[in-house]
Amino acid sequence: MRMPVDTEFIALDTLNGQHAVVEGPRATSSMAFRVVPLVRPQEQFRVLEGAGIRGGPTGTGCFDRDLEASGWPVLQPERLEIVQINLGKLCNMTCRHCHVDAGPDRTEENMDRATVDACLRLIDRTQARAVDLTGGAPELNPHFEYLVDACIQRGIHVMDRCNLTVLLTRRYQHLPAWLAARGVEVICSLPHYRELGTDAQRGKGTYEKSLRALRRLNEVGYGLGDQRRVLTIVANPVGAFLSGQQASLEREWKAALARQHDVHFDRLLTLNNMPMSRYLEWLMETRQVEAYLNRLVSAFNPATIAGLMCRNTLSISWDGYLYDCDFNQQLDMVMNLPGRRAHVRDFDLEAWNRHVVQTHRHCYGCTAGAGSSCSGAIA
Ligand code: SF4
Ligand code: SF4
Repeated sequence: MRMPVDTEFIALDTLNGQHAVVEGPRATSSMAFRVVPLVRPQEQFRVLEGAGIRGGPTGTGCFDRDLEASGWPVLQPERLEIVQINLGKLCNMTCRHCHVDAGPDRTEENMDRATVDACLRLIDRTQARAVDLTGGAPELNPHFEYLVDACIQRGIHVMDRCNLTVLLTRRYQHLPAWLAARGVEVICSLPHYRELGTDAQRGKGTYEKSLRALRRLNEVGYGLGDQRRVLTIVANPVGAFLSGQQASLEREWKAALARQHDVHFDRLLTLNNMPMSRYLEWLMETRQVEAYLNRLVSAFNPATIAGLMCRNTLSISWDGYLYDCDFNQQLDMVMNLPGRRAHVRDFDLEAWNRHVVQTHRHCYGCTAGAGSSCSGAIA
């Protein structure tokens, strides 16, 4: 379905090349818009497989073999706790590191009401304790509020992965108070508490808009220690390095944002950038694919495996297909279930419990250092 695009989304868009001193990735347009070969998952696999790998438990660069050498002959789910729904690829921004290749031009790929209702029926058949709404900017999907309300009525914890700037657009300014009234956890992305790194990766003016959105969330009670108004910030490196230590960065960020801007939040999650999609494109342009992959593989940490999010999370795409995680979804790595391609309409919990997770070299992003998941560091 082609959705109407508010010109204000476009006006918030980001392409700029003014921060020449920053070495990290800069905002761009979507690869789908530019029709580059790397938009195809097969091309991304080809690039990843072409990198010479030296480190890791086996030195082969084979994620499955490194798992096996670490005592995990197969990677299987433990228990379904979180249903992550990707409501679509439409976004008001075009961040350089985006693993979804989202942007204002991605108007076709958005979940319709029938699929939203099928997601709710799936949730009813599981013991999932939380629903994680992502995108794109999930708020731009016309069924976002309907879905949130339906989950809240079911007593399920709802997480909204919010890019912050969307809360300033004309049509969505009511959302901070609306989300607060329902106790939705807002998980917002901000690469750094300093302006330069954030604007370079997410687009000129993003930092200032993000601070304004954070203040609005503070004004309605978010980020002040209230368990019904939890404000979480997700930080990812602005460059080709691993995330820092989550607990110490949280202390540093809380102090810096409070001191410099009187802005407050509850917790910080650190994520590694995944070597795929637009971040992989940036790695290729800067000739860092092999170096970054080796950095991830060398930092392979077996202690992260038990907590990998593919072991407790089910990922649903905008068109209702099922995946082991949002990364596999973007690489179109179909879930390894018997029969026809797994769809939300015919989800089988027993089969999900028994299935083997699909992996490839991008998975080293989840097992590097302290690990990386939608819940932040793992080990
Ligand atoms: S990283 Fe998030 S905010 Fe940025 S383009 Fe992707 S979906 Fe949008
Ligand atoms: S990328 Fe997905 S499948 Fe691979 S380890 Fe991470 S969560 Fe699991």
